[in-house]
Amino acid sequence: MLKAYKYRLYPTADQAEFFSKSFGCCRVAYNRTLDYMSLLWCGAGVSVSRFGAQEQLISLKEIYPWFGEVNSQSLQYAVKQVADAFKNWWEHRAGHPLLKRKKDRQSFHNPQNCSVDWKHKTLSIPKCKDIPIVLHRSFYGKIKDVTISMNPDGKYYASILVDTAITAKPCSVVEETTTVGIDTGVKTFAVCSDGREFDTPHFAKAAEKRLKHYQRELRHKTKGSSGWKRVQHHIARIHAKVANQRLDYIHKVTHQLTHDSQVRTICIEDLNVKGMLRNRHLAYSIADASIGRFYSILEYKCRWEGVNLIRIGRWDASSRTCSACGEVNRRLKLSDRTWTCMSCGSVHDRDHNASGNIKSFGLRMALPSD
Ligand SMILES: [Zn+2]
Repeated sequence: MLKAYKYRLYPTADQAEFFSKSFGCCRVAYNRTLDYMSLLWCGAGVSVSRFGAQEQLISLKEIYPWFGEVNSQSLQYAVKQVADAFKNWWEHRAGHPLLKRKKDRQSFHNPQNCSVDWKHKTLSIPKCKDIPIVLHRSFYGKIKDVTISMNPDGKYYASILVDTAITAKPCSVVEETTTVGIDTGVKTFAVCSDGREFDTPHFAKAAEKRLKHYQRELRHKTKGSSGWKRVQHHIARIHAKVANQRLDYIHKVTHQLTHDSQVRTICIEDLNVKGMLRNRHLAYSIADASIGRFYSILEYKCRWEGVNLIRIGRWDASSRTCSACGEVNRRLKLSDRTWTCMSCGSVHDRDHNASGNIKSFGLRMALPSD
């Protein structure tokens, strides 16, 4: 089973310079390939294949001789990423690929020849040896690839993909008693059909005051000055902290859900998170609760722990169906937190009713009806 491990890096000045060259070259290779592919697509309707994109890299190497200073496999990977992004766009799985900006998180990928020295606590990648690394946890297995990244707050990380000998636990039999439906939402992060609730963490709101303070300070600085850079750094650190807190929270919730002997099957809604983000009123809270991230982490943890994960269609009207009698309340608004069924008179809490419905929809999908 493949597992990714992330570690903090403390590169020397020379190593940091190599990183920044690699970030820059990969970003340029990515953006120029993106330009090339969209020009051909929009101008002539020509779709460039992954091999066509790789060939284009050869001409880029002639225009940018400094590409020779970095790992050529990292450049090839950046180009492959563009080709994949276009493929996803053409096949309607994602939006049009976007240019990479210098102020975003920077990264480069090393698909081969990476190693970790456990004794001296260093990481070696092609063209850059013995990078100090904080190995706060160990792994066993063969290193597949390593991605080096730098967050906007200036911290470096290595994400190491390892082919571990660990095998995923076998899947369990779907049974009604060990099945839980989970509704994710705006008010409460997750509501389970067994009555458990996980509150929406408001990390961004807690950081907002400090953020506003620095943003006000930033307005009085000249763009690009050392004072401006210092304030920008503070802002980036707040954002990074909020992102870490969110991720930590998601890991705690997903761990609890997948390490419960009473829960062998989890039913969730196949939400189109992107579609929900487009609704402006919801955007802030949804981004804050990072439901998309929760779903993807829940998915792989379920796989590891042998928990069945059932996704029900997002149009199954889970919040509008009465879990007692099955009547669909078409007049239910997003702002209604509780409602009374017109048909049977049951009073429902919106989220609890939804999680109960998600469970029964999921069970109906998984178990043959008798
Ligand atoms: Zn009813």
